[in-house]
Amino acid sequence: TPSTPSNFLRAIIEEDLKNGKNDGRVYTRFPPEPNGFLHIGHAKSICLNFGLARDYGGRCHLRFDDTNPGKEDPVYVNSIKEDVQWLGFDWGEHLYHASDYFERLYAFAVELITKGKAYVCSLSAEDMRLYRGTLTEAGTNSPYRDRSVEENLDLFARMRAREFPEGTHILRAKIDMASPNMNMRDPALYRILHQEHQNTGNAWCIYPMYDFAHGLSDSLEHITHSICTLEFADHKPLYDWILDQLDVPSRPRQYEFNRLNINYTVTSKRKLKTLVENDVVGGWNDPRMPTISGLRRRGFPPAALRDFCERIGVSRSDSCVDMGVLENCVRENLDAAAPRAMAVLRPVKLIIENYPEDKEEFFELANHPKNPEMGSRKVGFSREIFIEAEDFMENPPGKYFRLSPGREVRLRGAYLVTCQDVLKKSDGTIKAVICTYDPESRGGDAPDGRKVKGTLHWVSARHCAQAEVRLYDRLFTVESPGKEADFLTQINASSLEVLTDCKVEKSLTQASPEARFQFERQGFFCADRHDHEPDRPVFNRTVTLRDSWAK
Ligand code: ATP
Ligand code: MG
Ligand code: MG
Repeated sequence: TPSTPSNFLRAIIEEDLKNGKNDGRVYTRFPPEPNGFLHIGHAKSICLNFGLARDYGGRCHLRFDDTNPGKEDPVYVNSIKEDVQWLGFDWGEHLYHASDYFERLYAFAVELITKGKAYVCSLSAEDMRLYRGTLTEAGTNSPYRDRSVEENLDLFARMRAREFPEGTHILRAKIDMASPNMNMRDPALYRILHQEHQNTGNAWCIYPMYDFAHGLSDSLEHITHSICTLEFADHKPLYDWILDQLDVPSRPRQYEFNRLNINYTVTSKRKLKTLVENDVVGGWNDPRMPTISGLRRRGFPPAALRDFCERIGVSRSDSCVDMGVLENCVRENLDAAAPRAMAVLRPVKLIIENYPEDKEEFFELANHPKNPEMGSRKVGFSREIFIEAEDFMENPPGKYFRLSPGREVRLRGAYLVTCQDVLKKSDGTIKAVICTYDPESRGGDAPDGRKVKGTLHWVSARHCAQAEVRLYDRLFTVESPGKEADFLTQINASSLEVLTDCKVEKSLTQASPEARFQFERQGFFCADRHDHEPDRPVFNRTVTLRDSWAK
């Protein structure tokens, strides 16, 4: 029995298994169209489909739903494969393309025509719309609806044979122009497109519509449970109608679930593509993007995304999930998994007057406060230290426990230091903070047990490296981008802050790309997958330590 929580889809599957349906098989599929990068909404569908197959001993196919030449690209095909694998799922042998079925789909179309269930319609697009009717008004039969089977077969063959320009003929199902469901009013099955296809090249100039290709592809692959989002509920009668007319190898069933929406972002490939094309972001994998590759580059662990998809669950009502829920999954994962390190993002120099100039020493600091198995590292210390500029105030308000003139603080794991003086530049800004240290406080505690409230992170000037750190904030200023205005006018202008003069522990230069850390007191960070190099370290802030957006 599966360990994961139950939901209505599991209930359906368990009922089917109990009744011996589909010979006890559970075959699902994840069917992306390769017209963009996958986003967090797709992650929900991936976790759901691959998760069901895993838990019921079935299999999940990765199928490229590539029936729209022109919009599709091998770049997208590759990114989709990479993202599914990175999320932790494996389609094994079961990688398919709807376009691999073009010949068989064509044969199914011929079968429909032969059965008098489809016809070639030669109305213009504009007339098609008029004949279709409206939600409150029945449609009108096309004047081409009663073409003979022979004429339809001939025209359809000639459509394939490149005899006609685009838009002159389409193949339509012959169903019911008065149906209250618009999808059933003689929907289009095939259209002419004189376009090259990324998988089939110039082999075809007619291409099947989604509704025709999808259910038949499911059948050809012996899919049992074809799971899609709720907006396809209206298409289900057509899905069933097509399969019921034809002599198909298997009879899949469609089930719908609620799509994932997250606030302060968009989960629509079309909108994400607009962001890329308008240079609002640096690309599909910009760490501010809700794409899988963007979240990956941001430092989100795949296990955190899987955990999130599980927690939000599936239902049949649409809702919007708070971005904080996703970020909390990431915090929880990284709190346990990420080694600690020290990095000073906005450095100010601290000089320890009474520490010998030529001396250095090394402190053994634990990589994780709760997990000794993660080991320790040596962190160098010397007379000149960098601390965070905001950790010093010349004239502090009450309850400020960090450094200020006369005040003593702890340098994490090293010594207690007391501020004696401040050196200023000619423009009045701080050049250096002058301190003395208590040599008896090695390791960070005073032998006399005096209380020191503030603990600061630090790096030694002689033992650190310069790094670039990228801080990210939400991409949009409003909860529901696009709802009240054009989403492009609701971009958060300060969603990216690049700090180029950060000081990090030297060991961090050796971090491999994508390695994740907690920078003490600052948040979780990862070495940038593409830009990080030992002599040019670049870290992305994945998430802050606390939810700064919580109300
Ligand atoms: P988009 O609307 O972003 O373009 P799509 O549905 O057109 O997405 P597909 O490539 O067709 O993109 O999606 C592949 C699968 O992912 C489909 O089964 C679809 O239902 C599912 N999916 C897409 N978006 C979401 C979402 N936000 N939540 C859950 N599942 C989704
Ligand atoms: Mg789609
Ligand atoms: Mg879409």
